Amino acid sequence: METAIDNDLPLYPISSAAKLLDISVHTLRMYEKEGLIVPFKKESHHRLYSNSDIERLKCIRQGINEYKISIAGIKAIYSLIPCWDIVKCSEDDRENCNSFKEHSKPCWCYAHENTCKERNCRECDVYRKHSDCGRIKNLIKSITIR
Ligand code: SF4
Ligand code: SF4
Repeated sequence: METAIDNDLPLYPISSAAKLLDISVHTLRMYEKEGLIVPFKKESHHRLYSNSDIERLKCIRQGINEYKISIAGIKAIYSLIPCWDIVKCSEDDRENCNSFKEHSKPCWCYAHENTCKERNCRECDVYRKHSDCGRIKNLIKSITIR
């Protein structure tokens, strides 16, 4: 009998993840620094990557290599994900949120002093469910045809 694999389980250390993606560890670190990926962090500060992370990184690599989108461009696309609508944060939160006002980087790149301060971005639907290639477009469609 086959066992279901939890795709969100942090499994791969950075060197293995880099190998799976055929990129250098340095590049993977740079993607994290730029906010394209939020890996699982162990207490030792070592990073682990899940199968979902690997798929997400493949999507990012495709954007960069095939569609010639720059890292700044990918960040700007992520910044357009309507986190306020998904999380249903308050008007107050929005008014005091730089992520709500700006559009240069994703919400998970900001140091928050609002409802998002206590939230774990890696486990948040905004990061997990809405930031892969196809879903961003579907999300925008679902909002615009309401
Ligand atoms: S980052 Fe958080 S507080 Fe800011 S708009 Fe998005 S959901 Fe609201
Ligand atoms: S918890 Fe993180 S990913 Fe989720 S809306 Fe807030 S800042 Fe964005």
